[in-house]
Amino acid sequence: MGTFKAIRIDKADKGTTATLTQFDEAELMDGDVTVKVEWSALNYKDGLALTGKAPVVRRFPMIAGIDFAGTVEQSSHPAWKPGDAVICTGWGMGETHLGAYAEKARVKGDWLVGLPQGLSARDAMAIGTAGFTAMLAVLALEKHGLTPASGPVVVTGAAGGVGSVAIAVLARLGYHVIASTGRLAEGDYLKSLGAAEIIDRNELSAPAKPLGKERWAGGIDSVGSHTLANLLAMTRYGGAIAACGLAAGMDLPSSVAPFILRGVCLLGIDSVMCPLPARKAAWQRLAADLDRGKLSEITHEIELDQVASLGPQILAGQVRGRTVVRIS
Ligand code: NDP
Repeated sequence: MGTFKAIRIDKADKGTTATLTQFDEAELMDGDVTVKVEWSALNYKDGLALTGKAPVVRRFPMIAGIDFAGTVEQSSHPAWKPGDAVICTGWGMGETHLGAYAEKARVKGDWLVGLPQGLSARDAMAIGTAGFTAMLAVLALEKHGLTPASGPVVVTGAAGGVGSVAIAVLARLGYHVIASTGRLAEGDYLKSLGAAEIIDRNELSAPAKPLGKERWAGGIDSVGSHTLANLLAMTRYGGAIAACGLAAGMDLPSSVAPFILRGVCLLGIDSVMCPLPARKAAWQRLAADLDRGKLSEITHEIELDQVASLGPQILAGQVRGRTVVRIS
């Protein structure tokens, strides 16, 4: 057995360290599929793991990285054989199971999704957990009954990973998208993705009134806290907000008013433990409904040795769109 390159998280006297190192293949955890990892990505949660800012890593040593795309090397799982192109996101990778910033990964075959036709492994990671989550939110809004005819939709954290993919997909589907951002200088970028209107996130960050002027029929929120409370208070009668993030905080200082007086729904979105059928459906929709030109506009590429330095930047909201990591 040999070694492979990986970003290893270790416990230190104060907090944790993240180091690019050689990892021993014998230390890989249990799993019935071994994958040669080709691409990974940088997500908000990766920023938390790399910096140790929140206790997302729950086993040491850990290999960081919550999603990968690659090729099956070995498999004892009936669904997969050597040479298959696969995607893996979530399931505790980079948290409780050795993760994706590595040339090799061993996981459960039940966690994997086949690379959809029309997407390259790099495309899949340009989408990654953030883009997959954006699509889960779109699917939840559709299940609620939202259509472009229902009215405008708002996307918060617009210039981030979830936000950028959400805008591109919703605009392609014909929605009038209102993008909320703290980076008004990114206005041209957001318009190029398909945003019809751009609003300053400060408009949504003050404590919310129980009800406000009805501004949108639906929304996708990466921010949480007062922003989510304001989104709910400003949602039209019968509308829905899909909540997937906490970039501004875990709290939700809201009231029941939007729910009991306007029939507004709050839809929870989780990508980590999302069951396989829903994953497959979301990836198929991403292959069909995400414009590849927009995807490359969103995407910035880095090498494995640059990942650790970007951890603090994504937490500070300074990373635009999606960052793919070339592994091998
Ligand atoms: P990014 O850092 O790429 O995007 C987050 C965006 O939120 C930033 O770009 C910024 O957008 C905005 N933002 C950052 N800080 C603040 C703040 N203090 N107040 C208001 N807005 C802020 O992260 P991702 O897109 O990868 O993830 C977004 C969120 O979704 C995270 O909280 C993440 O943990 C969560 N998430 C949840 C998943 C799930 O399964 N539920 C899966 C994936 C992500 P702008 O500059 O445009 O304002």
